[in-house]
Amino acid sequence: MLQCNCSVFGDEETREALVVDPGDEIGRILQVLKQHGLTLKWIVITHAHIDHIGGAQKLKKATGAPVYMNPNDTELQEMMDVQAGWLGVPTPEAVEIDAPAMDGSKLVMGATEFLVLETPGHTQGSISLWIPSENKLVAGDTLFRDSIGRTDLPGGDSRQILRSIHEKLMGLPEETVVVPGHGGSTTIGREKQVNPFLQG
Ligand SMILES: [Zn+2]
Repeated sequence: MLQCNCSVFGDEETREALVVDPGDEIGRILQVLKQHGLTLKWIVITHAHIDHIGGAQKLKKATGAPVYMNPNDTELQEMMDVQAGWLGVPTPEAVEIDAPAMDGSKLVMGATEFLVLETPGHTQGSISLWIPSENKLVAGDTLFRDSIGRTDLPGGDSRQILRSIHEKLMGLPEETVVVPGHGGSTTIGREKQVNPFLQG
């Protein structure tokens, strides 16, 4: 209902998989994993908003995969009932975080590295996941095509999100494909040129 983008990455050799932001529709994610003969090894949460984390415990239970999240979002995660109230949806089962996703944390799947970049501002624990060998960035709700994440919710900071984007994301290769938490994908180069929030 909230239309959050969930990404599933699978390694063709090891058949290992990594899922980012299982907000909901866990049945569909399990189906994709099964269809491709993948075993889920990592669940990564870009930030603790309900539409990104809501299905994490269900997916963890179904697969046994550990959940990675930045500890600076713990407070938000503990307000899941409040978040559910904002949206008028049922409170999802609370998820136990297994490991911290910190700046410089690296998850390795076969020959592919997934690097955690701390990009606070949308929330205090917001991270982006950079996959250099795939020219890809999973940006959570930090950077969107033509926009940036909202900062008017608890934990949001409008100066901080701009600093994160300029310092952590704009220096990535221009051809890097950005997969945002909502809406269509883009590239670092395109956003640098036309994103109205990043000009001047
Ligand atoms: Zn969000």
